[in-house]
This record gives sequence, structure tokens and C-alpha cells, in this order.
Amino acid sequence: MQILVLNAGSSSLKYQLFNMETGEVMAKGTCERIGAGGTITHKRPGAEPFYEEIDLPNHEEALKNVIELLDSEEHGVIKSIDEIDAVGHRVAHGGEMCRQSMKVTEKVIKYLETIVPINPLHGPPAIAGMKAAQDVLPGVPMVAVFDTSFYSEIEDFRYVYPIPYEFYEKDGVRRYGFHGTSHRYVSAKLAEVLGKPIEELKIVTCHLGNGSSITAVDGGKAIDTSMGFTPQEGIEMGTRSGTIDPTIVTYLMKTKGYSAQEMEDILNKKSGLLGVSGLSNDCRNVSAAAANGDKRAELAIKILANGIKKYIGSYVAEMNGLDAVVFTAGIGENQSNIRSRVCANMSYLGIEIDEEKNENFTRGVPFNITKEGAKVQTWVIPTDEEYMIALDTKKLAFN
Ligand code: AMP
Repeated sequence: MQILVLNAGSSSLKYQLFNMETGEVMAKGTCERIGAGGTITHKRPGAEPFYEEIDLPNHEEALKNVIELLDSEEHGVIKSIDEIDAVGHRVAHGGEMCRQSMKVTEKVIKYLETIVPINPLHGPPAIAGMKAAQDVLPGVPMVAVFDTSFYSEIEDFRYVYPIPYEFYEKDGVRRYGFHGTSHRYVSAKLAEVLGKPIEELKIVTCHLGNGSSITAVDGGKAIDTSMGFTPQEGIEMGTRSGTIDPTIVTYLMKTKGYSAQEMEDILNKKSGLLGVSGLSNDCRNVSAAAANGDKRAELAIKILANGIKKYIGSYVAEMNGLDAVVFTAGIGENQSNIRSRVCANMSYLGIEIDEEKNENFTRGVPFNITKEGAKVQTWVIPTDEEYMIALDTKKLAFN
């Protein structure tokens, strides 16, 4: 069985074709600059990447080109598009209705259209990706996997904000949480490598990338998470502020005359590691500058590590215990300096890492960095959201 996983962004379309018998990625790639030119990068194991500049006016045209590549003589991995058994779509926001992965139907697409106001950046491209796939691969079953659905069982006192209740009831202002597919994947992977039923584990998963979130997973269920109504809440990120005193927003708007859009740009695109360091949104660059004595870079890194620590501590309190901490995504999987700072002085909670293992970890596989004798396990686990989407698609597409 072969499953195509699609992840549509505003001007991009990422794809991976999985062989579900072996779990292998047969081909993957990215279309970029959709609507403003167009490029495709297409990769197959054991072959040189193929790169092409080609006019891609919309997602449908991009997907047509992807399918042509997948079954082409020269760069293909299948003989005909009939070999694509199902399509899995990554969808950032499922709102209150799409509480679990589900088959793509007209009703689902219509609902997603109604929640575009609360998901203005990611909603329209995800819908465009689904419609494009319906046109290009008619009759092929499709499943939507939502980043928010891992949080569908969070209790109301953790998702309702303490503002007038009507904003929740009438406007859908509540915590939704994001990166759920990643948190779900790494928590399940941890249980697998520990050889324990996930129902018996209390885990804090730290997805640290350009966007970052932390989730408390108790017995396999997410009970709380750092991102909220939007992916802006939580810890400091590459260019996002994370949680700040909300009055800072109105104070700056009043005193500097910023519009709502300008304020959003400041908090989304000019804050975080970039805003504090003044150097870069890339944690590698900021870490290197901090190591070279740059004070603002050091401050940015301290804010990040301390923010992660505070969430871990609060989730231990919420779960009344902790068996494991997992680090994943670009920073979590690759930056030992951040893991080291987060885990320093956490022995009271049972978190102690082996600095040598942390420094000399093996990339690309689940890696245990726990200090011998520590009460809590600490692991680095590469995330694989696409494979998780493929698994859900396999489970649901043919029902
Ligand atoms: P992501 O959003 O998951 O792609 O993560 C991006 C972040 O991971 C950036 O801040 C990078 O600096 C950081 N990072 C550190 N090391 C690496 C690496 N070897 N590969 C990719 N990202 C890395």
C-alpha cells in the first residue's frame, strides 16, 4: 500500500510517498513559491535530488507536477497514479468539530472554511491542498490529520481563558494547541522504546523548532499544552514572543500608534530569539553568538531555556508525577546546549542528564541521555509527523 502525505502551506506544498508495508519513504519533496513563480525539489533514496523552476500558479498545478514526477520514467517511483492508494493531509487547525483524524468529506471542507477566521494563515492553503487532491486524484480516499486533535480531550479549565465567557461560546476563543501530531508521535515512540504501555506513563514532550510547544501527556492523552488560541502562546520561539503580559500589546499600540496588523507582525515576526538577540531567529546562530560572549544572544538563550523549565515544572505539578521528558524537532533533536541548560538543576524533580551522552548523542534515532540512577528518563526522539499522518490515513481511509 502506498500513501501520499501532503502538507500545504500558503506558498508551498510538501509531499512524501510512503510504502506502508516497509514504512519507507519512496520519494519526497517540496514545491515552493506557489503563486509567485514556482520551484520543485524532488528526492528519492539513492538518487541525486531533482530541482526544477516551473510556473506553479496554484496548489492544483503544483500537485499535478508532483504526480507527474512520481510516475515519470526518469524521476518516478511508481508506474501509474493508480498505485497511490490514499492521501493524508496535514491540517493545522481542526477547530471544535474536527477532534480526531477523519476522512475528507464535503462536510469537513465546509466546516474548515467556517473556521478560517481563527486560522487565517494555515486554513486556506490546507483547504486548497484538499481540493487540489480531489481534482488531481479523483476517487482516491483522503484523510485529514489535525495538529489540534491531540488536545481534544483537554479539560475545560485548561482550555477556557479567564476572559468573558461569551468570547469562548460565541467566538471560539479557547486554547486549541498545536504540533499535536508531533507530540503524539514522540510520546508513542517513547513508550515503544521503553517497552512500557503508554497508559502507564507521564511524559512531558518538548517540540522545540522555529515554532515550539510543550505538552503534558498523561497515560497517552495530552492533558495540557503551551500553545493556545494560536501558535503564539507559550515559550519564546524563533521570531514569536510566546506568552507576554497582554497589556504590553495595548500599551505599545496606544503609545506608539501601532495598528493591530503591525502589532501582530512585531509579536510574530520580530520577537523571540530574533527580537531579543537582534541577530537571528536561528537557534544555532544565537547559541554560537552566546558562546562567543554576545550578551543579548546569551539573554535570548536564557529566556528560552528558563521558559521550557517552567513548563516542565508546571506539568509535573499538573500530572502529579513524571516518568520522562522528550526533546524533539530542530532544536530539541540537535542542540545539546539547550537540552543541557533546560535539564540543569532539575534533580529535585528527578531530571538529570548524562552530559557526555547529551553531547555525543546519535542523530536520527531515539537516544537516551538519562544519567544513570536518575528517577526520570530523558530522551531525544526525532519527530516524524508525516509518518504519523500516513499511519492515521491507513487506519481511516478504507473504512
Ligand atoms: P524546525 O522548525 O523543527 O525545523 O527547527 C528549526 C530550528 O532548529 C532552528 O532554530 C535551528 O537553529 C535549529 N537547529 C539546530 N540544529 C539544527 C540542525 N542540525 N538541523 C536543523 N535545525 C537545527
